[in-house]
Amino acid sequence: MPRIFSPNVTQTLEKLLADPAFRKAMEYLEADEDNRFEELKELVVVHGAPFKEHLKRSPLYKNKLERYGAKDCLIDSEGNVLGYVYGTGASRPKILVEGHLDTVFPEETPLAVTEKDGRFYCPGIGDDTAALACNLSILRAIEHAGLKPVSTLVFCGTVGEEGEGNARGIRFLMREHGDLDAVISVESHGAEHVCLQAVGIRRYEFEFSGPGGHSWRAFGLPNPVHAMGRAVAKIAELTMPISPRTTFSVGVVTGGTSINAIPQGARMKVDMRSVDPRELDSLGSVVESLVEQAVAEENLKWRSTDRIGFTMRCIGSKPAGSLAEDSLVAQVALAATEAVGLPASPSLPASTNQNIPVNMGVPALVVGSGGTFKGVHSLEESYTPAGSVKGAQKILLLLFALGGLSGVIEPLVEPCLERGPVS
Ligand SMILES: [Zn+2]
Repeated sequence: MPRIFSPNVTQTLEKLLADPAFRKAMEYLEADEDNRFEELKELVVVHGAPFKEHLKRSPLYKNKLERYGAKDCLIDSEGNVLGYVYGTGASRPKILVEGHLDTVFPEETPLAVTEKDGRFYCPGIGDDTAALACNLSILRAIEHAGLKPVSTLVFCGTVGEEGEGNARGIRFLMREHGDLDAVISVESHGAEHVCLQAVGIRRYEFEFSGPGGHSWRAFGLPNPVHAMGRAVAKIAELTMPISPRTTFSVGVVTGGTSINAIPQGARMKVDMRSVDPRELDSLGSVVESLVEQAVAEENLKWRSTDRIGFTMRCIGSKPAGSLAEDSLVAQVALAATEAVGLPASPSLPASTNQNIPVNMGVPALVVGSGGTFKGVHSLEESYTPAGSVKGAQKILLLLFALGGLSGVIEPLVEPCLERGPVS
């Protein structure tokens, strides 16, 4: 059943869809499907390896933004690429639309697009290169139809979204640009995708250390690997609430150098996630205290004057947050989804660039670029452009409903004047 949206949201979309220039842009996105896909194939073979995406991808993306009419294009000191479509109205509100330039694949990964049974394979072809190509196509549509937004639209390719990049690109943007009033992150999902809830992440690395020694002659010393094993066993026994969904995993363990030695050191990495910031905080302290107990038990067992100890380091964190389903920006995104003929309902929570702005109180959500995606983050990642038209059209609608179209509608979004710090 279609949703009921507030009259100003519905009327705004109707006015946009009735405007000849806006319709021209929507039609352009349909006709641009092949170009969009060709450009995706061109972009995906240019490496976006973690912490190296600024080397080749950023300059290429900057050139493309420039070529398609964005103004004052630049690469900031973090490596993010920005280009502006200036509004005809006041300097605020200002809307950021972004896709991330980095992939999870290291530089040595061979990149070539191959086709099999109608699917196109290449590491990174979906996440998030499809979004980069989608946003470029939208920029071309704006230029082609001569659309003038009332609010300034900032097109951006961000660095460091994945893994240990830890959202460094979007954090930098939110720190440097205090005037972004809404953030639209485009990700590798179908055109119906609208994610409102950001999963918080915390990652700890624990390092256990002791004197170590010969496995036979020094027997009786506390053993860092045994202490780590005790800690893993304790963590494994934790039970988590189903709601708010909260998870943990000891993902990496390393340690020791020789089979005939009591090791001097061991390390483990723990990943914890929750949609609720308080649950994540409390899980973090529980895990820390379990490790402390495990080390104390190992020391107590051997009662040696040589003891082991541990250090804990936070190696990643993304704050949780959510955009209310009845908030204006969420309503516009859901209504735009219906307007392109797709069912509208919020998608499952995820951890993306959205986490940073939404946690600060800046309206932010994730929408899908459109297309079909399989094997994201694997070497068998594949894509087809089916649905990419609707993805791009929906984002165009969303941007202009929020940011206004000169002479046709005023911006729906308001300046976000109270924002929390970047965490
Ligand atoms: Zn992504």
